[in-house]
Amino acid sequence: MRDSFLVFGSPIIEEPEIQEVVECLRSGWISTGPRVGKFQELFKAYIGTKYAFALNSCTAGLHLSMIAAGLKPGDEVITTPMTFAATANSVVHTGATPVFADVDRTTMNIDPKEIEKKITEKTRAIIPVHLCGRPCDMDPIMDIARRHKLLVIEDAAHAIEAVYKGKKIGAIGDIGVFSFYVTKNIVTGEGGMVTTSVEEYAEKIETYGLHGMSRGAWKRFSDEGYKHYQIVFPGFKYNMMDIQAAMGIHQLGRINAYYSRRQEIWKRYDEAFKNFPVEIPAPAEPDTKHALHLYTILVKLEDLTCDRDAIQQALHKENIGTGIHYIALHTHPYYRDTYGYTSDDFPHALYISDRTISLPLSAKLTDQDVQDVIDAVTRVLNRYAK
Ligand SMILES: *Cc1c(COP(=O)(O)O)cnc(C)c1O
Repeated sequence: MRDSFLVFGSPIIEEPEIQEVVECLRSGWISTGPRVGKFQELFKAYIGTKYAFALNSCTAGLHLSMIAAGLKPGDEVITTPMTFAATANSVVHTGATPVFADVDRTTMNIDPKEIEKKITEKTRAIIPVHLCGRPCDMDPIMDIARRHKLLVIEDAAHAIEAVYKGKKIGAIGDIGVFSFYVTKNIVTGEGGMVTTSVEEYAEKIETYGLHGMSRGAWKRFSDEGYKHYQIVFPGFKYNMMDIQAAMGIHQLGRINAYYSRRQEIWKRYDEAFKNFPVEIPAPAEPDTKHALHLYTILVKLEDLTCDRDAIQQALHKENIGTGIHYIALHTHPYYRDTYGYTSDDFPHALYISDRTISLPLSAKLTDQDVQDVIDAVTRVLNRYAK
């Protein structure tokens, strides 16, 4: 057994970003400034949208997107129960109602046929979440959205590198939202980015993300001369700092190298676990690129003498940290009690929720770390096999 704990989702931080953060601190320009500007330019070139706005989190980006979409109480937004709480919380924060639609058992992504069933005259938007980095089936989703005049806001927190039929994820819907939280594919500690090619949304997101002020603060205090701002909306304080962008600029530059490393680890896991009482992730769909954010196995409860939580705890005792992505949102007290959901409402989401475990996949892992994970999973599954 390994003697130190392997932290799940530990980021890889390298010398260039450490240097850049130090230079940023020395420059005195530590809040939103030139480094944020540069990070936005690089990011929008990478995704291929006209605009990109760096924020202090993906959650902030989701919230601003909902505000930019003009959501109000009574409106409905369709999303998946297989996501992080921030996706649906951001809808609740506008007073609108999140409406869940079940996922596909294999892809674990929202099922377009289920979206169609949930549409009412109150529906305003769809939030597809590209779970684990796997692109949602965007053609039917965009088709539904066009037919019913709905906005599509992609939660691309897991999916920076993902591509669907030649189009970058985050550039297909009206708005895309990304995360640079510590466990994500590239990191800024906390941080997020919103992408869009629609000028109206770009203006709203930029303005509403900084108090609803008509001019950015860093322009206001620059050497171009002081300008008065005007409050055009009671906005939020969601801007990214240059200290964060200092990390993001260099992390983005290494995105392909990190992807390749995760791909190697992914293949080793696939090979190691294919004959185990677990379902390994389905291969990527044709003509798509999976962003390989989370390596998620589903334990086959019918072949085991224990539940998923016991497997997770046993792995913890083996010094292997894991994640659960996710306990289905409709089973959480707030969503269950507020909207009257019962566990059985989304059978595929519930199936995944009861069985899922995410194994460490960071580009930081050494070959020995990967072997330790494989050995620990092997021991634990053998111990609980029927
Ligand atoms: C991480 C995550 C978020 C929130 O990202 P933050 O940057 O931490 O706010 C939103 N949606 C999904 C699917 C996530 O995994």
